[in-house]
Amino acid sequence: MTQTKLIINIALFFTLFSNFSFFKNVLEVYPFEGINIIYILSLSILLFTFMIFIFTLLSSRYTTKPILILMLITSSITSYFMNCYHIVIDSDMIRNTIQTDLPESLDLFNIKIIIYLLFFGLLPSFFVYRTTVQFDSFKIELFRKIKTLLLSFLVITIILFSFSKFYTSFFREHKPLRYYTNPTYWIYSIGDYISKSVKNGKVELKSIGLDAKITHINKKPKLVIMVVGEATRADHFSLNGYSRETNPLLKKEHIINLPHVSSCGTSTAHSVPCMFSIFNRDEYSYKKGISTENVLDVLHHTNKIDILWRDNNSNSKGVALRVPFEDYKTEKTNTICDEECRDEGMLIGLDNYINKRGDRDTLIVLHQMGNHGPAYNKRYSKAFEKFTPVCQTNQLEECSQESINNAYDNALLHTDYFLSKVINLLKKYNQTHKTSMIYMSDHGESLGEHGLYLHGLPYFMAPDSQTHVGAIVWFGESNKKTIDPSKEYSHDNLFHTLLGLFNVETAVYKKELDMFR
Ligand SMILES: [Zn+2]
Repeated sequence: MTQTKLIINIALFFTLFSNFSFFKNVLEVYPFEGINIIYILSLSILLFTFMIFIFTLLSSRYTTKPILILMLITSSITSYFMNCYHIVIDSDMIRNTIQTDLPESLDLFNIKIIIYLLFFGLLPSFFVYRTTVQFDSFKIELFRKIKTLLLSFLVITIILFSFSKFYTSFFREHKPLRYYTNPTYWIYSIGDYISKSVKNGKVELKSIGLDAKITHINKKPKLVIMVVGEATRADHFSLNGYSRETNPLLKKEHIINLPHVSSCGTSTAHSVPCMFSIFNRDEYSYKKGISTENVLDVLHHTNKIDILWRDNNSNSKGVALRVPFEDYKTEKTNTICDEECRDEGMLIGLDNYINKRGDRDTLIVLHQMGNHGPAYNKRYSKAFEKFTPVCQTNQLEECSQESINNAYDNALLHTDYFLSKVINLLKKYNQTHKTSMIYMSDHGESLGEHGLYLHGLPYFMAPDSQTHVGAIVWFGESNKKTIDPSKEYSHDNLFHTLLGLFNVETAVYKKELDMFR
């Protein structure tokens, strides 16, 4: 067959089999009745024609087949995640995927992905591979290509103009709908990702807070442990009124619970660098984040604070590039590993580290594995399995809502245990240090409400469960601070709160954002 015919076949395949999520979301906004039927049909033709246009644009004797195969295989996987987890493949999601390490990817691996890959990826790819494409002279091919491009462009224009009112509303008021088109949106997202990061060339780091200094001299050195939590949503903390007891150990400590804290983003890769950055949520971007020093750098500029980052998550997402970093995801460093290395392993040897600091101020950041999904049941040992039955698979959509909640809440019990251990470690230094702990989760998590799972939705369309996060603070006896827990806080506060906690004087410190001012 001709190249054009092959492209039409594959575009039809994508329209019919790879856009389930898209049409499902469209039908929720425009129910299949009355005039909507015409609109939805026109939308299908528009999508189909748009794909023909794009594929033709990228086609040539040597590129057509490889590109179609690559798109089929990738789209079969994106289809799986979009259909089963209701996620969107935007540039942030591309970044998350690239920054994900192998164990995290294996966590997501299951038989259903294989089925998607086989039927929506490999099988049609095989068809493309085996098809003999007839190529004519360059002139004829070029003519054909131009004809297809012009024709499809014409069809697109006619559709858009004939239903202009519908399409204005579709593109303006229902912007998120197009995020579900497959493969067009993920192709756009990759382009978006590349233009945002790679194209920007070599990153030049901008220093901030070079004037940072500590003049206020304390008798006792400061010891602060900052715990970066993972995927804990505020409404599942019993401290915030959740019906189940998920904070049995923390409630016995003199902690201050912060019920109204919102995250900067909905993913680890966005939130973690953002919370340590000088930028607030509206200003922050990935590029600004990596090209500007963060609060750890400013603390470091004082030359009076020792900083250590221990990580049992994936990595520091660029935050700890210029301070000592220790990976605790491996048995080489972490001495508490069974199914996987546990967060409390990060506490082993800290006494030794603290004692070696003498009378210097110290900040220790602990980046938890916490409630990393979808395999919540792997995030704790048997002793924490208080709520049963638990969802045993990473195919969350196969599990009952109850068993997902059970596994998630058991993992919260493990975080409760971990944080109480952190507090009890700090208590040992009550007499010698001014101690404090700050705990903040990076983002929340969807547990199947409205068919949504995991996290990572674009912020403006993300439910509260993904952006309203668990957060608490604790102060040692000789370090009482005031904070108003009823106030609304966010990741924006962390930068200034850490500076304030160490009495750092610098022009970049904003008192009004310091939670303990
Ligand atoms: Zn995270």
